[in-house]
Amino acid sequence: AYSTGVRRVTLIPGHGIGPEITVAVQKIFEAAKVPIEWDEVDVTAVRGPDGKFGIPQKAIDSVNTNKIGLKGPLMTPVGKGYRSLNLALRKEFDLYANVRPCKSLDGIKTLYDDVDVVTIRENTEGEYSGIEHEIVDGVVQSIKLITEEASKRVAEFAFQFATENNRKKVTAVHKANIMRMSDGLFLRCCRDVATKYPDIKFEERYLDTVCLNMVQDPSKFDVLVMPNLYGDIMSDMCSGLVGGLGLTPSGNIGKNGALFESVHGTAPSIAGHDKANPTALLLSGVMMLRHLQLYSFADKIESSCFKVLSEGRILTEDLGGNSKCSEYTDEIIRNLE
Ligand code: NAD
Repeated sequence: AYSTGVRRVTLIPGHGIGPEITVAVQKIFEAAKVPIEWDEVDVTAVRGPDGKFGIPQKAIDSVNTNKIGLKGPLMTPVGKGYRSLNLALRKEFDLYANVRPCKSLDGIKTLYDDVDVVTIRENTEGEYSGIEHEIVDGVVQSIKLITEEASKRVAEFAFQFATENNRKKVTAVHKANIMRMSDGLFLRCCRDVATKYPDIKFEERYLDTVCLNMVQDPSKFDVLVMPNLYGDIMSDMCSGLVGGLGLTPSGNIGKNGALFESVHGTAPSIAGHDKANPTALLLSGVMMLRHLQLYSFADKIESSCFKVLSEGRILTEDLGGNSKCSEYTDEIIRNLE
């Protein structure tokens, strides 16, 4: 894939505002002369041999070949026979770690201006294993599955991420005081991995205490690693501290590849009106460039985006401005150096 120096990347524009924000990202990447070639695929659900709707084979093949992708929001139709396409992608590619950097942005007014945390969420098991059953009428049981293998690999990922990104500390977030066996195992795995990274400080904190301290003083935290459910909630909370889902990028890292995505949904009420904010998808693309070690392109695009946000003249409506998605996009292109 590196033969011409140009890397092929699977592009999943998605639904709703997906195609508009995808075009914005493509335009900015092209203007910045990023050496990647897009392999665009549609993931609208198709009916498989089992009668269930799922991801088209062409999309699966593309990600398997390219090993890296950028994706917009997907709409999962409500009704019988449909599985969440996001969940299907996560399963198909065994995307075991979800990474969300949440950093305060100049020009975006929030409670704190010094937030700089990264949440790393175990993405495949825990409370979201989907193993539930009714024991007798009125009594249901849901099983939280924690394995040494999945806990170790996400802990390993967190410390590796901390090392590569000049981070100082990893906090394992848990409730091992109550869930002694499951969270206990997760925590032991984190401790084991921590011993291999003496340069990164390791601490263990209860989930409730982290919530309390995070909203009181987010500067106390750096990289956080945690089981699935805690990570789902904590990552949205941290997004809120820096300005919301429209601005937060994310990456899903797997054994055989990685998929970067905006965390917001398809925003049906504004779709097709050139009103969407493409920042979350753009910054997800920037994360992807760093993953591909295309650091100078990542820095160039990120600085331009941050500059436009901090100037505050040309902003989309969700950020209190009155500019179109296309105008914001053009302004970022004008500021590329
Ligand atoms: P949503 O994120 O689409 O919208 C929530 C609110 O935020 C709306 O007011 C919307 O207009 C606004 N918003 C979201 N992204 C924006 C952006 N980039 N620019 C400007 N405004 C933005 O959440 P929802 O309404 O709960 O879900 C709508 C659909 O999206 C559903 O079908 C849901 O299944 C899907 N969804 C997909 C993903 C994903 O693919 N990762 C995530 C969440 C929801």
